[in-house]
Amino acid sequence: MAGTALPGRLSWQLAELVEVVAETPRVKTTVFDVPGWPGHRAGQHVDVRLTAEDGYQAERSYSIASAPDGRRVALTVQRLEDGEVSPYLTDELRPGDKIELRGPIGGYFVWEPSEGGPLVLVAGGSGIVPLMAMIRTRAAAGSDTETRLLYSSRSPDDVIYRDELERLSGSGLTVVHALTDSQPPGWTGYARRVDAEMLAEVGPGPAERPRFYACGPTPFVEAVAEALVRLGHDPRAIKTERFGPTGG
Ligand SMILES: Cc1cc2nc3c(=O)[nH]c(=O)nc-3n(C[C@H](O)[C@H](O)[C@H](O)COP(=O)(O)OP(=O)(O)OC[C@H]3O[C@@H](n4cnc5c(N)ncnc54)[C@H](O)[C@@H]3O)c2cc1C
Repeated sequence: MAGTALPGRLSWQLAELVEVVAETPRVKTTVFDVPGWPGHRAGQHVDVRLTAEDGYQAERSYSIASAPDGRRVALTVQRLEDGEVSPYLTDELRPGDKIELRGPIGGYFVWEPSEGGPLVLVAGGSGIVPLMAMIRTRAAAGSDTETRLLYSSRSPDDVIYRDELERLSGSGLTVVHALTDSQPPGWTGYARRVDAEMLAEVGPGPAERPRFYACGPTPFVEAVAEALVRLGHDPRAIKTERFGPTGG
């Protein structure tokens, strides 16, 4: 085998941008065509590698937003103004451009319809991305697994996938929004950060043995996991994915 480059799962592959969808003022979904994509499970991510003309390279991880769909892989990226990679993905890349990616990566923070529920998905900001892949995968499979999404955003304009979430609600999927910084007139929903009381109200309780997936900035995820344990949920049923080094 020496000298042969086997196309392994984790080798870098060229991915061509085929579609861009504006989700919010700071968030875009970029859909890539990846020849030879081996398929993925909801919750997995890819590494993206950019190479500048002078050879400088930068790598970041991005969750896969889409349900498995042939060679197509959708990433939903939030632009950080002072970021190295995210502004390039959201603002510079044009259909037809190619980037390098490798994956799918991750076997822990994943959910498949056969695993059932009840499921509780807790998202902070762009942490919705891998949870949306689960919701889309559930819908594509025609699954009626009881699923509750508690989704914390700063303002109504920051809610990613708002219309699609509304459309997919029902058939066992309940979507609950928490808007921490600003709320629309007449808002009767949660207007604070996710806390234990909110998690208890969204339910289900420990007796129903729900399975949790929490994703977002590091401090958000840690606060959610801590609150769930305090409420008496089994720590082994709580899966977490942390997005940011600073958690901003
Ligand atoms: C497994 C995994 C999956 C991820 N999935 C997604 C995803 O689906 N969508 C998405 O938008 N991001 C996702 N991220 C975050 C992503 O990898 C980058 O960290 C993010 O895009 C910032 O990169 P940057 O090069 O633009 O900023 P950098 O140049 O790395 O950082 C710029 C500034 O922002 C701060 N910062 C870096 N990352 C974050 C962050 N996540 N939140 C707040 N501040 C930060 C830095 O400390 C620095 O001050 C994921 C991270 C991991 C580990």
